[in-house]
Amino acid sequence: MRITCYRCFWPQPLCWCGSITPMATRTRFVFLMHPKEFKYEKAATGRLTHLCLQNSELHMGIGFDDHEPVQSLINDPANFPVLLYPGREAINLSDPADARIAPFAAELQTRRLVVFLLDATWALGRKMLRLSPSLQRLPRIMFTPTAPSRYIIKQQPHAGCLSTLEATHELLLSLARSGLDGYPLPAQLIALFHRMQDLQLKCAADPAMGGYRRGTYKPPSERTAPQGHSGRRRTNVFQAPDRSADPV
Ligand SMILES: [Zn+2]
Repeated sequence: MRITCYRCFWPQPLCWCGSITPMATRTRFVFLMHPKEFKYEKAATGRLTHLCLQNSELHMGIGFDDHEPVQSLINDPANFPVLLYPGREAINLSDPADARIAPFAAELQTRRLVVFLLDATWALGRKMLRLSPSLQRLPRIMFTPTAPSRYIIKQQPHAGCLSTLEATHELLLSLARSGLDGYPLPAQLIALFHRMQDLQLKCAADPAMGGYRRGTYKPPSERTAPQGHSGRRRTNVFQAPDRSADPV
């Protein structure tokens, strides 16, 4: 029987915990993981991102309106809770011309920024929001990615789709640039992402390693367009502004 590490949820021989240095941030990050992301999507990066951030928590669920820890974070007047979710109404922290940044920064003089991130595919993330009006009502923030997704395993259907590790990295970059937070270990999240990806490619090529996926990976250009259930799973919620969906 394979022993799993119950912190990172990887098989013990591949456990990531020893190579992760949790970093401090002012912002509290709250990862809301759809159960399907946990169950089927072994490339899910939300849990590793959570382990990299001292000031973070991860909760699994679909609807969060009755979820006590989430609701107390939202309702604590000392907090300024926001949802990372692109769209016209989202404050773009990467855009110095966004006039909403100044009042947002002023709020954070006295309140703690709490960012909720949906660790799910695009479709499942929308469903989580539909079932969570309290999350829908939160002010939204976004960023303009500084790099396209580095994903080659979970082929992202659009250039703007980012994994949770990448999205958190981009968010921290934009928070640091706008002076709203520090980013003490800016290389860690992306390095972890690349190492995870290398490992998964090795596992796939070597059946003895108990791969995460049978068979080798085709280069993105040779793959067929994602379709059906497995195709939808490949889409992440963090999309570039031009791909942003209508408000839920
Ligand atoms: Zn571990």
